[in-house]
Amino acid sequence: MTECFTGSFTQQEPIPEDAIARAVEVMRSGRLHRYNLVGDEPGEVSLLEAEFAEAMGAKYCLAVASGGYALACALRAVGVKPGDKVLTNAFTLAPVPGAIASVGAVPLFVGVTEELVIDLDDLAAKADRAKVLMLSHMRGHICDMDRLMAICDTAGVTVIEDCAHTMGARWRGTPSGRHGIAGCYSTQTYKHLNSGEGGLLVTDDDELAARAVMLSGSYMLYERHLAAPGAEAFAELRYDTPNVSGRMDHLRAAILRPQLARLSQQCAAWTERYRAVEEGLRDTPGLTLVERPEAEDFVGSSIQVLLLDWSEAAIAEVLRRCAARGVELKWFGAEPTGFTSRYDSWRYVRSERMPATDRVLRAILDTRLPLTFSLDDCRLIARIIRAEVAAIHQAGPA
Ligand SMILES: *Cc1c(COP(=O)(O)O)cnc(C)c1O
Repeated sequence: MTECFTGSFTQQEPIPEDAIARAVEVMRSGRLHRYNLVGDEPGEVSLLEAEFAEAMGAKYCLAVASGGYALACALRAVGVKPGDKVLTNAFTLAPVPGAIASVGAVPLFVGVTEELVIDLDDLAAKADRAKVLMLSHMRGHICDMDRLMAICDTAGVTVIEDCAHTMGARWRGTPSGRHGIAGCYSTQTYKHLNSGEGGLLVTDDDELAARAVMLSGSYMLYERHLAAPGAEAFAELRYDTPNVSGRMDHLRAAILRPQLARLSQQCAAWTERYRAVEEGLRDTPGLTLVERPEAEDFVGSSIQVLLLDWSEAAIAEVLRRCAARGVELKWFGAEPTGFTSRYDSWRYVRSERMPATDRVLRAILDTRLPLTFSLDDCRLIARIIRAEVAAIHQAGPA
């Protein structure tokens, strides 16, 4: 009998009941705008910011409309200007180069290694060509942050972290997003907290935080924030920082706060699922697993495997056969489809070819592991991938 998987790779868990109850209270109040507050009430958005800042060990936090908005806001706040180059990962998702392009800046791509992290040798070689690195911890893979920060500090490169896939993860005990000057997170449905859309930005930098608050559309109401610098930080810059409206509202904050309280349990549950799939795929001939470094405390909300140096036809056949058995894998080697695309498909950027990176991208198969999957589901998914990879691998080069 051929086993098939019948679960949905895009089905997240329901919003917890206590979060729904809070959201209903906010709706009953009619006060959804973050600055629509009565008396001294802090409001859900400020409370979320204070709680997230504390969870990340940051001085400041700003909640915004999306993860992509947080990235662009951080770029503006550190002073990136139209025409500036910004270093970023060749292996990432479209909102990252998109955030760079949105401020008129120009992405300069840095390669990816077989470990699926930014190629630090390539970064070191390119570090004198830009003042800012937007580092994407793509699919939760964290590079050697000690070496990365040493390279960037030496070259005078400011680091902004895209933590869309690493909320709750750590490198040598430091939360992801806390190495660079700012960390940006997404609370879009497919990330680690779910408010449909939403983003968070953390920093310890007074000026960056004050600029980000003004940029997000605070008008002159910045003193209503709980996790922002004092009024003195705004004294001058409030006159010369444009309002690029992108606030979060109380409804989203209300459903995020109870989820944030459970973040570490959720992260552990994801990683348990990751380990179940990884275990089932270990020693599959022709398939390369990504060995995770000891220093990386990752969140396994998705898993990637490599079919290195396979022909495109053979990879396509594996994908087809897995899909026929209910396992939808994403392939970064293909033309842009759904959420996946690659650096050479962002044609608004003129990029240099990166043969070593192309070899890796061509090999990456990827799937999310939503918490609606049981551990048995994960073992079944691994058995299906293993069997189909083995079938094609045995048949020899296509
Ligand atoms: C989702 C995502 C973003 C942007 O988040 P949105 O909230 O969707 O704007 C940025 N980077 C990566 C790697 C992402 O996956």
